[in-house]
Amino acid sequence: MAYIEPAPIKDKENPLESMMHRFDKAVELLGISDEMYHILKVPRKQVTVGIPVTMDSGKIKVFEGYRVIHSTILGPSKGGIRFDPDVNLDEVRALAAWMTWKCAVVDIPYGGAKGGVACNPREMSAGEMERLMRGYTMALLDVFGPDQDIPAPDMGTGQREMAWLMDEYSKAKGMTIPAVVTGKPLVLGGSLGRTEATGRGVMVSALAGMEKLRINPYRATAVVQGFGNVGSHAASLLRERGVSIHAISDLSGAYYNDKGIDITAAIAYRDQNNGSLDGFTGAELISGDDLFSIAVDVLVPAAKEDVITRRNVESIQAKMIVEGANGPTSFKADDIINDKGIMVVPDILANAGGVTVSYFEWVQNRIGYKWTLERVNRRTDRIMKDAFDHVYEVSLKYKVSLRIAAYIVAIDKVSSTYKFRGGF
Ligand code: NAD
Repeated sequence: MAYIEPAPIKDKENPLESMMHRFDKAVELLGISDEMYHILKVPRKQVTVGIPVTMDSGKIKVFEGYRVIHSTILGPSKGGIRFDPDVNLDEVRALAAWMTWKCAVVDIPYGGAKGGVACNPREMSAGEMERLMRGYTMALLDVFGPDQDIPAPDMGTGQREMAWLMDEYSKAKGMTIPAVVTGKPLVLGGSLGRTEATGRGVMVSALAGMEKLRINPYRATAVVQGFGNVGSHAASLLRERGVSIHAISDLSGAYYNDKGIDITAAIAYRDQNNGSLDGFTGAELISGDDLFSIAVDVLVPAAKEDVITRRNVESIQAKMIVEGANGPTSFKADDIINDKGIMVVPDILANAGGVTVSYFEWVQNRIGYKWTLERVNRRTDRIMKDAFDHVYEVSLKYKVSLRIAAYIVAIDKVSSTYKFRGGF
C-alpha cells in the first residue's frame, strides 16, 4: 500500500500522522483491499476559494479559503470551519478524514468534511470577520446545504460566525434555512446542551470505562488537563457522579489538591478571572507536566494535541486515559501505554459528544421542533454509551486497544457502505 497521505508532517509527533498510523493498522487488521484503501483515503471533493474582503483601512485583501469533503457515503458531510493563520489545504484534508471516522464511530448519519481560511482572527475587527465569513459562505454556496455539507465552528470561529453563515446562505436561497449549519446561537435554532456536550461525552466514556475496570466512581480519582469548554464540563460532570478531581490545569499552571478540588468554585473563579485559573487558591500550584504523573484512576487530557508522548508516557500512573482533546497522544506512546495496561478511550470516541449534539441540532432544525435539555442529554448519553460498548466488544474480538477498535468500527462501517452502494 504505497499511498502517501497528504496530511502535513511537519515534525515527527504530528497528531495527524498519528491518526494515519492507527488508520493503517486498523485497515490491515480488517483486511481491506488496496482499492478500498484508496477509496477511503482520497477526499471526494476539495475546493479552494479566493475571498476579497474590504478591510477597515479601505484596502481590499484577498484571503484563501478551503472546504474539503472527505466522504458523503453515510450522509451529508459534517465538519467545522477553522480561521487560523496556519490553515492550509493539507491540514484541512486530514481533518476532514478525521471527521468521517468520528461520525462513523458514534453511528451518526454523516460523512466528514472540514473548512478553513488562512487569516488571523485576533487581528481582525468584527466587521472584517463578518465580511470574510459572508464572502466564504457565498464562495461555497453550491457546496454547503442541509442535505449536502453542514459546517460548524472550529478554532477561531464560534456562534457569531455561524449566525452570519446561516444568514448569508438563507438570503441567497430566499428562505430561512437553519439546518445548513450547527453551533448557532440558541435563538437562531442552536440546541440546548451543545456547550457542555463534549464534556458530557467524556464523562459518559469515563464512567463506561470505569465500569469495565471495576472502578467505583464514588471512590475514583481523576486529573483534568485544560479547563476550557471540554475540560471544565468534563470535570464538573465527573464530580457530580462522585469522582474526586485531584488536579486541574490551564495555561497558567496546574492546581493540585489530594482532598479533591471544588470544581464549582474553580469554574466560578475562572469566569471572574478572564477565563484563567491564575491565582486559584483552592489547591497547590504545581507544574503542568507534573499533572501527568499524579497517581489517580483517570487522566483526562482536554487541552491540546500531542501532550502524551514518548517523553512523559512512562511517568503516567493513571489506569485510564479519556481523550477529551483531539490527538492528545502521539502514536509513538501507544505501545508503551498498552504495555502498561492503561485503558485509553480514544478521541474519535471520547470527544464525539460535541458532534452528536450538533447532529441533534440539525435534526431539531429539520423537524422544526425544539427538544428539552433533558431529552438532548438522555440521547447523547445513549449514543455515547452504545458507541463505547460497541468499540469495547470489537477490541475484545480483535484483541486490540480501544483506539484501534474505534478505527476498525469506523472503517468497517464506511467501507461496507461503499461496497453495498457500489457503482464505481
Ligand atoms: P478551550 O479553548 O475552551 O480550552 C482549552 C483549555 O486548555 C484552556 O483552559 C487553556 O488554558 C488550556 N490549555 C491550553 N494549552 C494548555 C497546556 N499546554 N497545558 C494546560 N492547559 C492548556 O478549548 P476546548 O473547546 O475545551 O477544546 C479543547 C480540546 O478539545 C481541543 O483539542 C479541541 O480540538 C477538542 N475538542 C473540542 C470540542 C468542543 O466541542 N469544544 C469537541 C471535540 C474536541
